[in-house]
Amino acid sequence: MSDTQQQPTGAEEITWDLGDLYAGADDPAIEGDMDAAEAAADDLDRDFRGRIAGLSAIDLGEMLQTYEGIEDLAGRVGAFAYLHWASDTGDARRGALLQRATERGSRLNQKLVFVELELAHAPNEVAAAWLASPEMAGRRHWLEQVRRYRPHLLTEPEEKILSEKAVTGRNAWDRFFDEAHGAARYEFDGQKLTRDQVLARLYSPDREERARAAAAITSGLEEMRRTNTYVFNTILADKASDDRLRSYESWISARNMANEVDDQTVEALVEAVTSRFDIVARYYRLKKRLLGLDELYDYDRYAPLPATDRRYTWDDARSIVLNAYARFEPRVAQAAQEFFDRRWIDAAVRPGKLGGAFSHGVVPSVHPYVLMNYEALARDVMTLAHELGHGVHQKLAGKQSILQHRTPLTTAETASVFGEMLVFQDLLAREEDPAARLALLTSKLEDSFATAFRQVAMNRFEHAIHTGRRESGELSAERLSELWLATQRAMFGDSVILRDDYGLWWSYIPHFIGAPGYVYAYAFGELLVLALYARYQEVGADFAPLYLDMLAAGGSNWPHALVRPLGVDLQDLSFWHKGLQILDEMVGEAEALAAVIRPT
Ligand SMILES: [Zn+2]
Repeated sequence: MSDTQQQPTGAEEITWDLGDLYAGADDPAIEGDMDAAEAAADDLDRDFRGRIAGLSAIDLGEMLQTYEGIEDLAGRVGAFAYLHWASDTGDARRGALLQRATERGSRLNQKLVFVELELAHAPNEVAAAWLASPEMAGRRHWLEQVRRYRPHLLTEPEEKILSEKAVTGRNAWDRFFDEAHGAARYEFDGQKLTRDQVLARLYSPDREERARAAAAITSGLEEMRRTNTYVFNTILADKASDDRLRSYESWISARNMANEVDDQTVEALVEAVTSRFDIVARYYRLKKRLLGLDELYDYDRYAPLPATDRRYTWDDARSIVLNAYARFEPRVAQAAQEFFDRRWIDAAVRPGKLGGAFSHGVVPSVHPYVLMNYEALARDVMTLAHELGHGVHQKLAGKQSILQHRTPLTTAETASVFGEMLVFQDLLAREEDPAARLALLTSKLEDSFATAFRQVAMNRFEHAIHTGRRESGELSAERLSELWLATQRAMFGDSVILRDDYGLWWSYIPHFIGAPGYVYAYAFGELLVLALYARYQEVGADFAPLYLDMLAAGGSNWPHALVRPLGVDLQDLSFWHKGLQILDEMVGEAEALAAVIRPT
């Protein structure tokens, strides 16, 4: 343990109270709720399977009320089992409860899957009558969503065959990829290490060590070259045949549909981001200067810059976050205050507790819980702001039905990143030491680049390989590496030299295999918020009430419809450029500070 971890943080006693869910792991209500959910699902199956298309809107409304009730019970049990386990993952009894809740939850889902399928398959006239009826209030968007899949669903026997064969098809390849990479060892300084252990050394202040780590990754990937190339090609071909069978227009259409955005919006995002790769290049030229290096190579990208070691106690963090929130809008601060007052946060660091941070939305009839591991550094204050942003969003959306409570990935990070931005600006404003200001800025910039620019550069790689495979057949390892280098070099320009040795680094990224098309959503979320923040700076106090309405709407409407009242058109390139402009200005500020600290 380092010294910082041993100093008191003030968060040692900050633990959550899960009593709003269940009295404890032995609470008989847990089993009772699981049984009740399963019994209700059996009734639903008996009364409605095969009959949904024939239901009147009133009957459908009643059926969905039962369905929501089942989801609520299952959600409570699932959330409790997870949160209870996260508090102490080393306790086998907690693990067993989580496992049991997961197994029963998935059995329940299998029983209920017919509901969405039958709703999707119902004739258009029937669905139009449902959608127009008052019974669908609070469920309309959910039903619209389910219905959108209609043109892409196959007949029931076909769906059954596809899902059964996927187990030994794409899912098997996905698992093989994960297992092969999990088992792979990389030779580093005479030791055999996992990939993550070697990748961690890219953050070393010692340049030689970083270079050796990069070489170790490259030679490990070289050994797996044939396997990785084969798995990639298989997944690309599988995706192509799936999209063809389901009549999706392009390789990304199915993903966009799940994200509730249209292809044009995603194209606007990608176009805006790729047109501002100059911001990345400018930053890395500055980083090169700050590190005192003549050239930056691929293994220098994560070289650490001086960080601020300023410490913030838990009480400091609480008042910084609440004050920053209150200056934006008192109602946001009030919603966040409840998390502290009612013990909805677990912030203490202790052995066995799950690492990292999250806000669990639980179910709208209860309230969210936040987990983090507070170590009193500036980044912990930012994490608190981030997770409370999620928490406030989930809390405010609590009036939505369980079917429309959650937002798709594209907007799920709105309140979290926005909250983080409010606190970041506040920390920056109160910091007078130029070196500490520069440290805050560079770490925020590198985070933003990782979510905005890097993900779009990866999306360009995915675009190239999916379309390449469809147009000209199997891709060789050399071709994949060429496409990887071309799409990544486009982002860095002349600021970082990506050596040919870096060419094979496409071959370990699990998203490309497990969730094709996924990565751009990170960029979408980040830039959406930066642009909203720019909009807030433009319109001032009038912004906050509209923003609150958007949060309270949860997932009850399309993202583009949710942000429209805020004066935002997602298909408009200039909107995305507003967000990019903020990053551009932050790089400018970092350059100015660097000139003060370390004149050229
Ligand atoms: Zn988040």
